[in-house]
Amino acid sequence: MMHAMEMVEIWQTALAVVKEQVAPRVFDMWLKPLRLGREKERGRVEILAGNDFSADYVRDHYGALLESALSAAAGRAVSPLFAVDPNPPEPAPTAEPAPRPVAPSRAGVDGRYTFDNFVVGSCNQFAHAAAARVADAPATAYNPLYIQGGVGLGKTHLLHAIGNALLRSRPDGKTLYITSEKFMTQLVDSLRFRQVHNFKENFRSVDVLLVDDIQFIAGKKATQEEFFHTFNALQEANKQIVISSDSFPGEIEHLEERLRSRFSQGLVVDIHPPDLETRMAILKKKAAQEGMDLQDDVAFFLAEAIQTNVRELEGALIRVFLLASLEKEPITLSLVKESLRGTVRRNEPRLVSMEKIIETVAAYYKIRPLDIRSEKRARRYSHPRQVAMFLCKQLTKYSYPDIAFEFGGRNHTTVLYAVDKVASQQQVDSDLEQTISTLVAMLRK
Ligand code: ADP
Ligand code: MG
Repeated sequence: MMHAMEMVEIWQTALAVVKEQVAPRVFDMWLKPLRLGREKERGRVEILAGNDFSADYVRDHYGALLESALSAAAGRAVSPLFAVDPNPPEPAPTAEPAPRPVAPSRAGVDGRYTFDNFVVGSCNQFAHAAAARVADAPATAYNPLYIQGGVGLGKTHLLHAIGNALLRSRPDGKTLYITSEKFMTQLVDSLRFRQVHNFKENFRSVDVLLVDDIQFIAGKKATQEEFFHTFNALQEANKQIVISSDSFPGEIEHLEERLRSRFSQGLVVDIHPPDLETRMAILKKKAAQEGMDLQDDVAFFLAEAIQTNVRELEGALIRVFLLASLEKEPITLSLVKESLRGTVRRNEPRLVSMEKIIETVAAYYKIRPLDIRSEKRARRYSHPRQVAMFLCKQLTKYSYPDIAFEFGGRNHTTVLYAVDKVASQQQVDSDLEQTISTLVAMLRK
């Protein structure tokens, strides 16, 4: 057996070692509260946790780690026996880390996401307008403002943009950005450290509360309860609440009915995936922010290749920048194709929709899909229109009358004429031939 004092040193050394190996949060939550008990028999020392749950959790997750740290510190085999502390120390409110208070300065708001660098398109114009309105005049128009949209479409960006605008226009006001997950862990911490009062104070004293990804509180009973009270307190005090989610209030499973109805009370706006034009505009904006020059053909290719969401679009752009700087090459179409190798699915040529063809051709010629479908006769419209008709004939199984219908209900002889014309023209016009093969490659990608 060894001296109690010696054991204390071994325990402290072991803890210090363990601290290096786990996340600070884990350490504070599970390991730091442990207390050294008695050495029951040689090589077996009691480690005391605050309750059954903690004892089990630590045994399962950190038992092996603690055992090797203890053995290393002692220079012999020492294994921990986890038990519940019969006399747990009163948590000393000053000694324990308090639940993180609302940071006085930026309060969770990320300075990188502003209205200035948010690209507005038809996919997000309502969400953007509503967010801008709320930032201008909180708690007057829409309360709560509920922003719904799929992953990577700019919800978090808009929430921070509101926060940044408010930090600037009302530096004395209290704006707070938080994810619903953080809300939950802070609530749990506050319960653990018996500081629920502080927790409530923190959230109920804000002027604008921006809650990201609210769907995560679904099914969490205590969190929903607390959020409900926070929500009511803020609304009664005429404070602004902005919520984001991947689903509409009615679609979040296991969300309490009363929250569902609160969330639908104000304005619900949704964000759609960006169209080609917006994707190109976003790429150009991001490139400009990085001080990079992005040629139109490159932006076009990337925007065509990645249609899912803006986050992936950004990821692709970053890979391109990286490769360009590694290879010390300018950003060209071939470099971009190289950087995307393996990330973009290379399907068998698939069936393309006429809509997609029209969208792609319009973007290529920098006109609107509407212009392609229109009657406008100017060559800057009629030529792309004919190219689009030609591609519809080449890449789809539609008949001339079908195509005529898609192009604004013209006579099918117009389509016949256009297809013939483009087919013969590209024999003699190598620019046109090049354009057609680029477009085909894009559409078949
Ligand atoms: P979400 O929260 O909806 O999953 P984010 O707001 O995190 O998506 O957006 C993912 C990335 O895409 C962020 O880097 C964001 O800046 C960017 N992004 C999304 N939409 C736009 C947009 N309209 N303009 C500029 N950047 C955007
Ligand atoms: Mg987000």
